[in-house]
This record gives sequence, structure tokens and C-alpha cells, in this order.
Amino acid sequence: MEVALSPARHAHVWRSRRQATHAVQVSDATFPCMEIALASCLSAPSHLPSNQKPSTRRKGLSIPPIGSSARVAGSEPRSESGAEKRRRETVRRRRALISTPLVHPIVSPTANLARRQPRPANAMADAKPFKPALVVVDFQEDFCPPNGSLAVPGGRSIAPLINHLLALPFSPKLATRDWHPPNHTSFAANHGDAPPFTSTTTVAHPSDPSRSYSTTLWPVHCVQGSPGARLVSELDVARVDAVIDKGMDPRVEMYSAFYDPFRVSDSGLAERLRRAGVTDVFVVGLAADFCVRATAEHALDEGFGSYVVEEGTKPVLPDKWPECRRDMLARGVKMISAEGDDIARVKSLP
Ligand SMILES: [Zn+2]
Repeated sequence: MEVALSPARHAHVWRSRRQATHAVQVSDATFPCMEIALASCLSAPSHLPSNQKPSTRRKGLSIPPIGSSARVAGSEPRSESGAEKRRRETVRRRRALISTPLVHPIVSPTANLARRQPRPANAMADAKPFKPALVVVDFQEDFCPPNGSLAVPGGRSIAPLINHLLALPFSPKLATRDWHPPNHTSFAANHGDAPPFTSTTTVAHPSDPSRSYSTTLWPVHCVQGSPGARLVSELDVARVDAVIDKGMDPRVEMYSAFYDPFRVSDSGLAERLRRAGVTDVFVVGLAADFCVRATAEHALDEGFGSYVVEEGTKPVLPDKWPECRRDMLARGVKMISAEGDDIARVKSLP
């Protein structure tokens, strides 16, 4: 079937075929996806009605058979001869190309990926999200020898280990401060002659007196703005993303970095960690049997994996630590070593 085209149409078809030829040449050296471009370019001009599209002898090929005369209406024989010559050349190129398989020299992207990034044998386990945060609890002067008013035995000795952890890819890395007003209820000095460590007081819910708990009384410590409230000078604070203050409500005790037992005072830590996409919380600091413990247990309550790095904490009451540690394990807190697999997993993060 012959197709009679106007001069304008003929010129358009000719340009399209030249572009097709160009696309073919490019595709052979670049992308397999250009195979699609080739098929598209070789199809009939889309602007033509279906009953005017050129006949093809090969599926997907719109090239008129050699020898057919796709004459341009009103053209002179001399120009037709030139057009016929160019058309024959185009047809020759296209047929040569079509007979050549489009095999790209690059192997499949999947194969390349497999070579570049070998997956570990436990790939399924690693598929679970793991974004660990580090919380350094109350590493302050008043909790450390030699001058702290509530010094934890050996408290300052954990600094190198904590600084080592701060250099690992935890995100975020947070420090907390016990940050009490002078009239805080946990100070024995605010309860007459009550001796610290061995006496307790009852803390009632500020708006519901039927709810209460008993808590230990302590020496005055970590008063806001005092030298004893400072983070220890050995701590590498340059690696800490934020410092969170707690224990500012004088009416309640607040061991946990999250909130007090009544939740009338909330530091916003849980929300901060969730916003950061944290999955697991690693806790160190002072003291292991009070503020570290409460923080680790509340991390569990908030749905995070919870770990205490044992080399990075010390108890204020060493004699009672074994029992306390058992209780923490029973709650689901993981008591881990800085040399163990959990920290190794943190180290392996990008
Ligand atoms: Zn305190």
C-alpha cells in the first residue's frame, strides 16, 4: 500500500526517521531501555489516522518495503530520486540494527549490587530497624567523688567508657541533669531532723491526695546553678546533642529522665526520641540503682528496647545492687557489656 503524503508530512516523517536512526545508534552504546525508544520511533507516525499509516511487512516496523514508491504528491522526479536514495539508506540502517540483538554489556543492576554489598547471613535479623539513642544520666559533680554531696562510689571512673560510647554512632546522644530547686522534697534538710539515706518521706499526688508513694531522703544535691549540679568536666559534652533537665518540680521525686511516678512532670524525652525515630535506648550514668534504673525501665514502658551498659554506671548503694540488677533484668532491661554484641551492632552502623 502506498501512502501519499503532503510535503509537510513527508518532511515530518523524514525527520522522525532520522531521529529514530540517531536513537538507535545511541541505544546500542548506552541503555537497554532505549530498546523501547527504538520500537517507539520505528512505529507509525502517531499523527496519522490508522487508515493512512504505512504498511509494514514486519511487526512493529513501519518502514515501507524496499522498492515501493512512497511518492510525495506534486514532487518532481529528480527530487523523488534523491529522497528515494536517502530512504533506502535509512531502511538499510534500520534493518541492520533490527537484525542485531540489543544486548547491553552491563550485567543486571541486581547482580552488580550483590557484588558491591554482600549481605550477611543473618540479613533477615538485620532487616529490623535499629536506631539506638544514648542517654547519659546525671553525670554531675554532686554524684562523684571526691567532693560530691551525694557521691556514688567510683562514680567518676566511668567517664572514659562513657566518652567512648559518645564517639559511637548513637543518635541522638543525650545527657540529663538532676536540676532541683532548693526546696525540693527529696532533700532531707527540708524535712526537719530527718537523716539522709535512711529516712523516707511520703509524696502525695499534687491534685489527688489519695495517691502517694514513699521515697528516700537524700543530702542536698544538684541545686540549680550550683557547682555540684554541673556535668563532670571529664564528660565529652561536645559530643552531646542536648542536655535535658529533670527534677525541677519541688513536690515530686523524679529519678527517671522521662517523668516522675505521677507524670505531673514530663521532660518530653519520650516524644523527642520518637520524633527522632529511635528504636532502642542505651543508658549509662549515675546512679545505677536509682536514676539509671528508672530511666531504663521507663524506656521499656515507652516501647523502646532498653539497655544498661554496665561498665558505664555505678550504684549508690553497692550492697543492694545485685538484687536491684535482678529486678531490672526481670523487667526486661538488658544488662550488657560495652564489649558485647549490642555495642558491636552500634559500631557497625554507618
Ligand atoms: Zn535528685
